[in-house]
Amino acid sequence: MSENTTAEAAPKVGFVSLGCPKALTDSELILTQLSAEGYTTSKTFEGADLVIVNTCGFIDDAVKESLDSIGEALSANGRVIVTGCLGAREGEGGGNLVRQMHPSVLAVTGPHATQEVMDAVHAHLPKPHDPFVDLVPAAGIKLTPRHYAYLKISEGCNHRCTFCIIPSMRGDLVSRPVGDVLKEARALFESGVKELLVVSQDTSAYGVDTKYRTGFFDGRPVKTRMLDLVRELGELARPYGAWVRLHYVYPYPSVDEVVPLMATGAVLPYLDVPLQHSHPDVLRRMKRPASGEKNLERIRAWREACPELVVRSTFIAGFPGETEAEFQDLLDFVREAQIDRAGCFAYSPVEGAAANDLPGMLPAEVREERRARFMEVAEQVSAERLHRRVGATMQVLVDSAPGLGRKGGVGRSYADAPEIDGTVRLLPPEKLSKQLKVGEFTRARIVATEGHDLVGMPI
Ligand code: SF4
Repeated sequence: MSENTTAEAAPKVGFVSLGCPKALTDSELILTQLSAEGYTTSKTFEGADLVIVNTCGFIDDAVKESLDSIGEALSANGRVIVTGCLGAREGEGGGNLVRQMHPSVLAVTGPHATQEVMDAVHAHLPKPHDPFVDLVPAAGIKLTPRHYAYLKISEGCNHRCTFCIIPSMRGDLVSRPVGDVLKEARALFESGVKELLVVSQDTSAYGVDTKYRTGFFDGRPVKTRMLDLVRELGELARPYGAWVRLHYVYPYPSVDEVVPLMATGAVLPYLDVPLQHSHPDVLRRMKRPASGEKNLERIRAWREACPELVVRSTFIAGFPGETEAEFQDLLDFVREAQIDRAGCFAYSPVEGAAANDLPGMLPAEVREERRARFMEVAEQVSAERLHRRVGATMQVLVDSAPGLGRKGGVGRSYADAPEIDGTVRLLPPEKLSKQLKVGEFTRARIVATEGHDLVGMPI
């Protein structure tokens, strides 16, 4: 067996497929991917560089057959990756059954885990060089500047907010396998990304569709769950000193567990929580996720656990049936919750949205007038909170710095997501030796505010 692969001898993977038609489909997907990447495959162990056993764990006989096959593959070849239903079975004391019975296997995954299996194959049998595929960066082609990138963790949404048609276009929530997400994140950090922006339609729901299935990353089990994902992303970012920023997080109780990770600096103390409204009746008419939650109390508790926390949110003013009292509730909420950054839309009907049929559509002038009143209050809160930064020293990620910053530059602190929040205008450094470089961090002493932005002296 050799880890060295040459163009003449493509790496060879032996494959054993057991179980039902669903398992067979999984095998087909893995075999297709192996072939696409230039591996040769065979049904025997003869001359194979490693063996994959796709198992079944349905009835006792199937379990026995699967365990026997793993044993045979281990004695004939020694390098075995196990996938399939048996891979997901618990053994005595809650450990993994396959690992308990055959501790020397290279990796174990559950069913429907093509990517995790491929990750394990890559880890133990590097794929052959392909000049076409290898020209594409490991993290895929990105349209953002090199130093920040969006990381999509799921597609679709299980909610049915009455003003939104996204689920009808994109379908229900489908979470990406956690191993894939983490692999992409690592590739992004390796390629120089200093800020990773986690996006989805509902980041806090990550993994709900998979029942928080255990996936694999680097041969380790990791749950498909927001808390676990965020913890792992923080770990991956640490050696690069990079930032991880969370967007579209709903105020579910589960987020309470993520906030301490922000307090320790593992991920940025920044939450983009699209609240849309404060009044429970409006939230119910909107059919918002977490509409029964006590958002004000929750945000206060988050701030107690992590005083640096910055909360960004978006709101809708003038939703059908919104009374003046309900709107006042929203204004009070923004003041009391001290929302750092708020955006607001005047309600506008979207074709196909259920809210169009709700009674009490407000005239356009009322909707617009409420939006303007909302923004006045929100900007006041935001300005006050921003002003507290004056005198502080902040870490700033430089987005632009012509001439290495001799005439200053523009960057962002942890409180500013790209495109949607403010910036830090960087003054020309006092120290002649100080240079500013795009995509690198600098420390800056905040000397003033300017609208939504801060002004800082690089130090
Ligand atoms: S607005 Fe509601 S339905 Fe639309 S994507 Fe967001 S959570 Fe899902």
